[in-house]
Amino acid sequence: MMTESLVSALLAWYDVRRRDLPWRSHPGATADPYHVWLSEVMLQQTTVAAVAPRFQWFLDRWPTVADLAAAADEDVMAEWAGLGYYARARNLLKCARVVAAEHGGQFPSTEAELATLPGIGGYTAAAVAAIAFGQNATPVDGNIERVTARLFRIETPLPAAKPEIKARAVSMTPPKRAGDFAQAMMDLGATICLPRQPRCLACPIQAYCAAHKAGTAADLPKKAPKKVKPHRQGRVYWLERADGLVLLRRRKPKGLLGAMVELPSYGWSDDDAPANIETLASKWFTVTPPVTHIFTHFRLELSVLCGRITDAATPEDCFWRPVDQLGDVGLPSVMQKAVKAAIMSD
Ligand code: SF4
Repeated sequence: MMTESLVSALLAWYDVRRRDLPWRSHPGATADPYHVWLSEVMLQQTTVAAVAPRFQWFLDRWPTVADLAAAADEDVMAEWAGLGYYARARNLLKCARVVAAEHGGQFPSTEAELATLPGIGGYTAAAVAAIAFGQNATPVDGNIERVTARLFRIETPLPAAKPEIKARAVSMTPPKRAGDFAQAMMDLGATICLPRQPRCLACPIQAYCAAHKAGTAADLPKKAPKKVKPHRQGRVYWLERADGLVLLRRRKPKGLLGAMVELPSYGWSDDDAPANIETLASKWFTVTPPVTHIFTHFRLELSVLCGRITDAATPEDCFWRPVDQLGDVGLPSVMQKAVKAAIMSD
């Protein structure tokens, strides 16, 4: 049967050519659920190259889910800094605490039970069930989506094509080695079935691929036209004291960059720094050009205002840190850019 021989060819390729990633087990074996879950959460919206070292640091610091559950919120947020999408880090902690408190420190093994945990959506539940527990589940990430759309020459644009792609991926999933199948599809998408220039000549399942036969592989999957991201503007304050301390602020626990440390900022989110910060210095100069950052739902342009003072009362929610310790407080990427802009302009 065509599907069976396709899957056999793909798994034979995976056994030899799979990517060696720190959270993986050997082909045919199941992996540690904590490792799979942690890597899958980190990999949402972040590249494998960026995640690999961070994954290892996380494990060195919190070797088990129970260790992570016992960690202080601010330590986890700081360790997550730079990976972006900070709601993931908050959900990570919530999930670890539920696994520790309600499941005796062991992840449940079925897709349905996993999906009840905080921050675990359909994709992650299927990935952990298949890869860590050998369950017959089918996660569909961007790589699997692309490979499947091409194999079956699905012309419907994304996101409307998602249900059809999922159904096709499910139809291919072998009851045994479902986890290896998912990882083989991911690896094929990441190394051979590339978004712009698929390397069909090197593809182990080329003989089964409808888009390759039709010569349309590089055009699939089709995507609905993107909406233009709205634009927001705001200000961020670099306030430096004569003794070399810089003013920082912890944002409120919920919302955009919730619980993260920032240079006090104003005008771009629902969590403004106290308005009196601007009165603390008598003179401000504005760094050019402003800092820009792309969030999921908008593009942000931040003017960086730099001021110096000799001494001042500390505004609400704020604290001071030496300039040379700013790398240790876990600033999110947008604030790292603002710090760099302020220091370079000095
Ligand atoms: Fe992708 Fe080409 Fe392989 Fe088809 S033949 S799955 S398009 S690499």
